[in-house]
Amino acid sequence: MAIIEPIIGRSIKRKMGGMRGKKMPFIAGHKLLYTCNLRCDMCPFWRRKDERLLSIDEEIMMMDSLASAGVSFMGFEGGEPLLRNDLEDILRESHRRFHTSLVTNGWLLKNRASSIAKYLDYLFVSIDGLKETHDKQRGVPGSFEHALEGIEEAKKYVQVAISTTITTYNMNEITKVVELAKDLGVGINVQVSYDYSTANNLSPEKKALYDVLLSLKKMKEDGYPIVNSKEYFDTLISSWYYGIKWACKPWSTVNIDPQGRIVMPCYVLNEYAGSSKVWETDIVRLWNTYDWSQYESCNKCSLSCYLEPSIFSWKKLSMVNERIIGSIANYISSML
Ligand code: SF4
Ligand code: SF4
Repeated sequence: MAIIEPIIGRSIKRKMGGMRGKKMPFIAGHKLLYTCNLRCDMCPFWRRKDERLLSIDEEIMMMDSLASAGVSFMGFEGGEPLLRNDLEDILRESHRRFHTSLVTNGWLLKNRASSIAKYLDYLFVSIDGLKETHDKQRGVPGSFEHALEGIEEAKKYVQVAISTTITTYNMNEITKVVELAKDLGVGINVQVSYDYSTANNLSPEKKALYDVLLSLKKMKEDGYPIVNSKEYFDTLISSWYYGIKWACKPWSTVNIDPQGRIVMPCYVLNEYAGSSKVWETDIVRLWNTYDWSQYESCNKCSLSCYLEPSIFSWKKLSMVNERIIGSIANYISSML
């Protein structure tokens, strides 16, 4: 319980700061490395060479800078984070400071689940389809079985959700993945693939995606364990098909590359290129001098780490219930 109070306290403080017109990031995403043991068609990251990775001391410096800038939620990803032997040490430090989550492709999860789970509040495991589709999209046979085995083990220790990237390969199978999540007793978060110049372009035609988004929204309303809010689907549908723009607030999330550099202005624009090191940057100053207004009408991606905080409103009761009260209740129950 003791850790909850500082997290909520920081969030409220940040909210108040925002009300005074100050911009502060409250979610951080950090790629621990680009190297990966899978070869997803739509992914540019496994194709990049890693330079020297951050030491544990540098990871701590990065976390301290982010905490001082107002960050309350930290999400680790890659590449494949479980390829790092010091992952437990990094997660332990993060869990002392932040609500902590991790995304893995699940290949190496079964044997590490118990040792990493104690430092996690939420674990996301990528599953993009049933066996054949998943293995095709992920580029390595056997990846579906490994992910499934990993989920079965990890859910004994921590709250787990499937993370699904919707592409031309799997768009007609997405509802089956939602059924799978329900059968496994885990959540599922979806987002539409974004076309990077250095990967294969698999993002589906918007027209073809319409029925899929409507089906997902209906499943959400019917109580399937979809982590995205109902408003997430409403917003995508309004923006992509009816031209009603949502105001992106990319400053709500700060992304950090494997060398500890801030990715500006967001995860996808500039193809995830890092700039200055986190611990050498006055983040609050940068956040409040940078011209974010040009990105407000961007609407290019559907990444939930940007879209969800951008559309969150204290006036939308269902969002407050699900995002604040629900997550606090989940958090407390996970501590009991
Ligand atoms: S598992 Fe993740 S990092 Fe690895 S290739 Fe696939 S999308 Fe990229
Ligand atoms: S909508 Fe545009 S500015 Fe906002 S996160 Fe996506 S790509 Fe970046």
